[in-house]
Amino acid sequence: MNSEQDNLCPICGTGQLRPQQIDYTITLDDGNKVTTPNLQVEICDHCGEIAIPAKSSTLIDKTIAEQTEQLSPQELEHIRDGLNVDQTEMSEILGLGGKTYHRWEKGNQVPSRSMGYYLRILAEFPEVFEWLRARTWRKQNRIVVRPTNSDLLEMFPDLPPTFNESGYVNIRSTLPSLALLVK
Ligand SMILES: [Zn+2]
Repeated sequence: MNSEQDNLCPICGTGQLRPQQIDYTITLDDGNKVTTPNLQVEICDHCGEIAIPAKSSTLIDKTIAEQTEQLSPQELEHIRDGLNVDQTEMSEILGLGGKTYHRWEKGNQVPSRSMGYYLRILAEFPEVFEWLRARTWRKQNRIVVRPTNSDLLEMFPDLPPTFNESGYVNIRSTLPSLALLVK
């Protein structure tokens, strides 16, 4: 009976945790359910609490990754290598925070499902990636009449007057949508 005592349920403190195989279902944040079949768990014979051993927890993570079509860190690295850029460049080109792709490849963070699709598209059509990299769309948006500083002051009287002719770029980075506004 010693082994039974070692397996006392930590929740009710009365029952024993007993090994069992079940189809274990969890609900994801997006409402979708993922079931891991034949999962090894321990169930309290008193309160019904389900304890999940570390090995089984890993298996659940793996099932979720498969069913949500998550890209693994290895796949993310493979995609980036195929596009011939480093992690920082990749983040920049995708419009992500500077270290985001680093975190994905380390497995500290996981790209969303839609980002996963997007990355697969870029991997499949490198010319699309090249187009994105060249920022063709942004350049087209920049076909605007360059306002003078006095124009800007008139339009945005609250702007701190910390710029000169060559400091125009600073204003634009403060107000990224400015170029569109003055079109
Ligand atoms: Zn219990």
